Amino acid sequence: MRRPRSVRDADVAGRRVLVRVDFNVPLEDGRVADDTRIRAALPTLELLLERGAAELVLCSHLGRPKGPDPAFSLEPVRVRLAELLPDERVRLLENTRFDPGETKNDPELARRLASHADLYVNDAFGSAHRAHASTEGVAQLLPAYAGLLLERELEELGALLDSPASPFVAVLGGAKVEDKIGVVRSLGERADAVLVGGKMAAELASQSPLGEGWLVLPADVVAAAAFQADAEARVAPADAVPDGWLGLDIGPATREAFGEEIGRARTVFWNGPMGVFEWPRFAAGTKAVAEAVAAADAHTVVGGGDSVRALEELGLAEQIDWVSTGGGASLELLEGKELPGVAAIPET
Ligand code: ADP
Ligand code: MG
Repeated sequence: MRRPRSVRDADVAGRRVLVRVDFNVPLEDGRVADDTRIRAALPTLELLLERGAAELVLCSHLGRPKGPDPAFSLEPVRVRLAELLPDERVRLLENTRFDPGETKNDPELARRLASHADLYVNDAFGSAHRAHASTEGVAQLLPAYAGLLLERELEELGALLDSPASPFVAVLGGAKVEDKIGVVRSLGERADAVLVGGKMAAELASQSPLGEGWLVLPADVVAAAAFQADAEARVAPADAVPDGWLGLDIGPATREAFGEEIGRARTVFWNGPMGVFEWPRFAAGTKAVAEAVAAADAHTVVGGGDSVRALEELGLAEQIDWVSTGGGASLELLEGKELPGVAAIPET
């Protein structure tokens, strides 16, 4: 896999550095509710400061505003960042998506961003699959480098493609079926088994012919009469869900089978909950998979916003070897796609 040149090799002393970070954090009452992503950027920022950068100009998007909107201001992030990294040389620009040119990769916005600095460091893995002005456009205008977090993400996910210890078991679920089918196929070529749960399982089961030996679909599901937290629910074989009912979680036999596969693995990648884990009655499958991945005597990598949230709610995130900060980006990478934000950085 392609390795972009590293911020470690950049000569930054006395220079102004534009850093694209991923500060797309949850806000609550005008405060940062979870600062994980801010802390994840600190190693790169500290490295740049230690090496004598004259100024760090940080930029990030936050949410999906349609133009300038105080509800999506990065001001709460600036306040939290100043607590975590008090240094006069650090400055945070306003939400890149306040400018409609961001998502259009507008050259004018890229030029404006570039005008702040002498070189550019991209540490926003979670946005690297998007060709936006702050991720791709600006990298064409300034000498560009990969930040430490971006670099580590590429190493961890690249290793899954290049050299996974066998057996390699991938577990995929969640609701973004369209986005994930490609990954199921791509991982099928590399993994010894791809276990599929979530909404995707029913969809794959209906796509015939299947026949692929690596694909493991649920044998049973927790079926519900309606898409509701308190719907009438019962366990059913996956191929005998009553008409009009929905499979909202994997069933007990599948929990056990998936747990055993994961327990035998030496490499595990997991993306996507096994069921509607937000509702306690449909959370058991996701819990079982999370526990099996955490306990596995394997190199474990987990990506996907909701999967990571499930792990954190269960207090298991610490037991995972690499928790990816990029849901969509990690999937596109594992699909074998080139990420525009990475491709724009020259190789070592
Ligand atoms: P991730 O963020 O980990 O990539 P997704 O965003 O693809 O995962 O999917 C997460 C969502 O999928 C959750 O909100 C969950 O409720 C939903 N989900 C999981 N299984 C099902 C299912 N069988 N039917 C409907 N929704 C599901
Ligand atoms: Mg999600």
